[in-house]
Amino acid sequence: MEIPPNNVDANTSTASSRMTKRVRPRVMVVDDDPIIGCVLAGALNRGGFDVETFNNGIEALESFDHLELDMVVADWIMPGLDGISLIDALKDKDPDLPAMLITSYVQDERVQSACDRGRIDAVLSKPFNLKKFLGTVSYFLGMNDSAEPLSPASRPLDEAAQIAARIEKLKSDSVDGWKAMVGRESFFEQIHQSVIDAIIMVDRDGRIIHYNRGAARMFGFQPNQAGNLMLSDYCPVGSLLPSTLMQFFQPHPPVEEQSESFFRRANGEEFYTVFSVSLFEPDHQEPAVLLVVKDINDRHTMERRIAEKNRNLELMAITDPLTGLYNRRFFDHKLAEEFRRVERYQSSLSLIMIDFDHFKIINDTFGHLAGDKVLSFAASELTNGLRDVDTLARWGGEEFMVLLPETGEEMAVMVARRLHSLISTSKKWRTIAKGLEVTASLGLVSLPWTSAKMTLTNVIEALDKSLYQAKENGRNRIIRYLDTTNTFEAV
Ligand code: GH3
Ligand code: MG
Ligand code: MG
Repeated sequence: MEIPPNNVDANTSTASSRMTKRVRPRVMVVDDDPIIGCVLAGALNRGGFDVETFNNGIEALESFDHLELDMVVADWIMPGLDGISLIDALKDKDPDLPAMLITSYVQDERVQSACDRGRIDAVLSKPFNLKKFLGTVSYFLGMNDSAEPLSPASRPLDEAAQIAARIEKLKSDSVDGWKAMVGRESFFEQIHQSVIDAIIMVDRDGRIIHYNRGAARMFGFQPNQAGNLMLSDYCPVGSLLPSTLMQFFQPHPPVEEQSESFFRRANGEEFYTVFSVSLFEPDHQEPAVLLVVKDINDRHTMERRIAEKNRNLELMAITDPLTGLYNRRFFDHKLAEEFRRVERYQSSLSLIMIDFDHFKIINDTFGHLAGDKVLSFAASELTNGLRDVDTLARWGGEEFMVLLPETGEEMAVMVARRLHSLISTSKKWRTIAKGLEVTASLGLVSLPWTSAKMTLTNVIEALDKSLYQAKENGRNRIIRYLDTTNTFEAV
């Protein structure tokens, strides 16, 4: 009896070649893993066997009687009927049927016991070798007598092995090839020329003495211009690079520097780059400076556009579209901030609330568009009457608010009077509609308070009340709140 293949343990005491009448013996393969089933069936087919595959033991057992099989190959662990039980049942029907069990647990007691009882003739351990698997099947089915018993089945396997070996060899040739290339000057030259980035060598005088293809493409250098180009011609006005290059020729040059800046192409177009500068000191040669430049112009342009968009969005979020003034959201934020300063440092702050008089009538008489124009013109008139540090905002429909930081009562009254007069005396209204006259009522509050309880809510409430008083007292006037007496007075 032949020694069974390595990872196929044939049960030599019981196994014997089964003489089959068929040209192509028929093997049953039972495995719940379709891939393993397929691989085994494929190998058996190529090896000259007919195959019946099943993915479970029960169906395999049921089909056995009418299949006239010559051998069974079954996986052990399967749902339903496992491989050992299946083989047991098949051996009850046909004790001479060679049976091979596929398992990763060759040493398991159940496997060993089935072998000892002569139920299992061979165990195929996973991971398996197809060549050996076929050798064993051939052996049991009496097809392994020739000098090269595995030849039909092994041919495709040999071919695969040959291809794998060829790939391995190519790989190692290629690594050897690279190793041989390294060290040759032409190799470094090829690398240098293959780099997309610009590599430029500049001498002490700022002359470009060498550049790679990447630089020629990026800057638009013509062939053979090295030695005749000055770096400064490719740097925009104001670029510090040509002058700072000199540092690199000093006794203690900067170790390495990476910066972002504009360069200029031969056609005059400026483009944004990130570049590094380092000192290059070849043997027996004057040192030169090596510039490695990466063109990041597209990215830079995009980033600038995004930043601008973001700025616009931020501005939109705090601006009133009709008047171009800050909106209430911004004003509230600003007021809260300034109010904290007043609380902490007892600094002065005044607030003026402006509400246009009978605006509804203006709209009804001159049209809504005229009303819009009044608001928009008023915004510019009022802006002209304020300092840069003051904040004017559109608080609501036809209500504006003014925040005057570091401004006490006296000054605030002056400002309020100025604003009130700007509105009532403006000549602009006539340009909107004939006979249009505009007045406004103003409320005024100055901080810090010494008598009343100073909270932001109380302050706004006092401001609201003072404006209400102005309306009550006949409109077109200024009323201020006095915390010391908790009263309102006309100013
Ligand atoms: P009072 O003197 O008491 O303030 O009277 P008023 O009519 O100004 O006040 P009221 O609050 O009754 O009405 C305000 C009007 O302002 C009503 C509203 O249609 C108008 N308004 C608010 N926002 C706008 C705007 O953006 N454009 C125009 N054209 N009108 C506006
Ligand atoms: Mg109003
Ligand atoms: Mg009004």
